[in-house]
Amino acid sequence: MPNPKRKHTRSRRDLRRYQAWKLDLVNLSACPNCGALKKPHIACPSCGYYKGKVAVVKKEKTKKQEENK
Ligand SMILES: [Zn+2]
Repeated sequence: MPNPKRKHTRSRRDLRRYQAWKLDLVNLSACPNCGALKKPHIACPSCGYYKGKVAVVKKEKTKKQEENK
């Protein structure tokens, strides 16, 4: 088995381990409709818009619904 010729520096080792946090970062972009941050290729969680249309109708509690309970 080939072995590493020299020990890597602490700096080089730590820099390699430091890269792991990038793996779970998700690209977020501003929604063109409401400006909230959203994931790409997914309807906006705050307004339900996707590609300029309402893709998901958000259920919002109105005062009437709360009064009917
Ligand atoms: Zn939005």
